[in-house]
Amino acid sequence: MKSKEKAATPESERLYEEARGYFPGGVNSPVRAFNGVGGCPRFIIRGRGPYVEDADGNTLVDYVLAYGPHILGHAPASVVSAIGDAALRGTSFGAPSVAETKLARLIQSFVPSMQVMRFVTSGTEAVMSAIRLARAATGRSVIIKFEGNYHGHADAVLARAGSGVATLGLPDSPGVPEGATRDTIVLPYNNVEALREVFAESGREIAAVIVEPVAGNMGVVPPAAGFLEALRWQTTAYDAVLIFDEVMTGFRVHPGGAQTLYGITPDLTTLGKVIGGGLPVGAYGGRADLMRQIAPEGPVYQAGTLAGNPVVMAAGIAVLSELASAGVWQRAADATNALAEGLAEVAKRERVDVQVQHIGTMLTPFFSASAVTDYATARASDTTRFASFFHALLSQDIFAPPSAFETWFLSTVHTGAEIDRTVNAAAVALRNLK
Ligand code: PMP
Repeated sequence: MKSKEKAATPESERLYEEARGYFPGGVNSPVRAFNGVGGCPRFIIRGRGPYVEDADGNTLVDYVLAYGPHILGHAPASVVSAIGDAALRGTSFGAPSVAETKLARLIQSFVPSMQVMRFVTSGTEAVMSAIRLARAATGRSVIIKFEGNYHGHADAVLARAGSGVATLGLPDSPGVPEGATRDTIVLPYNNVEALREVFAESGREIAAVIVEPVAGNMGVVPPAAGFLEALRWQTTAYDAVLIFDEVMTGFRVHPGGAQTLYGITPDLTTLGKVIGGGLPVGAYGGRADLMRQIAPEGPVYQAGTLAGNPVVMAAGIAVLSELASAGVWQRAADATNALAEGLAEVAKRERVDVQVQHIGTMLTPFFSASAVTDYATARASDTTRFASFFHALLSQDIFAPPSAFETWFLSTVHTGAEIDRTVNAAAVALRNLK
């Protein structure tokens, strides 16, 4: 790595210094600041297909993809022109527009359990709203979440969370009142026994179980055999609401999300990322009898000035229309499989313990001797090695997420050429690992 280390990135460094004057850590979302790996974040000036270009003139193969939305790669022509057309017609109305119905119909064709849905402007909001609905519908307060799962930054779910919270090693966040998480029970992921015990003890107090059905915010951790089934069984037995947070897994582990892949139907689903083509969006939806309790049809209040924004809807329609074509999604999954195989092979050749965990179009290489199955085993992976690996890749123009606890995303336009480059760069990186 040392010999391959590229020259400094003076323009990114200058821009970052300037940004630090305006934003905490110089960023508008924590993981971007590179705290998990050290060094200076690259400023990105444009994206095209599987590449991003930084302010220093480097073109990088991108596996961040805005943390998931760009399943068709950056700036696909159909999405860009849909956004342009919509913007020309006006950017927001505060009145219904036909694009909302069109996107809802498309989403439902992929995720049929979303009988009735509502658009919001972020994944955080989708989760907040789904939890409020579950509490209202059951008349109960307690929610169960799982260690290392991330459901956005709303107070109730900011307890032993993944993503940036994991990257920064925070157990929870100051400023979240004790009362806000008093009704949140945090259980280990993939542990059916712990789940059973809690339900046996206080099942009738539990409003909802919320889960990343394939965890992605501690890196990719698939559900153990029987785990999702147990969630479905327990919540049904105790009349609690099962919420699949598919903000990340939606359209990524399978075109129909984890619920289609595993054949488990939740009561409510949250979506985000892919359905907005990289513009701010979220959605929640599910059983009609639950969703019809949302205002104005029912008493559960939830609203948004920019919800169902016509430009965002147009982007989402363009993405999902393209994904609906035969074979398109599979291209991204095939690329992911090829990358996973390539990484596993070079790790074996270089005798470095790496678990390449992947599913659909998501992947994480954990520096660990055995499979990562929960938050404890994710945290036990070697983050120092990951940081060296990350920088060695970046110095060879491969941009992976800057944290051992994030997911790498692939797109339908990551081809053999990008995968080969990445695998070759990984071989160099692993060979020179400190
Ligand atoms: N849930 C999951 C599973 C997520 O991955 C994320 C974002 N990474 C969120 C919720 C929050 O979404 P947002 O950042 O759009 O608020």
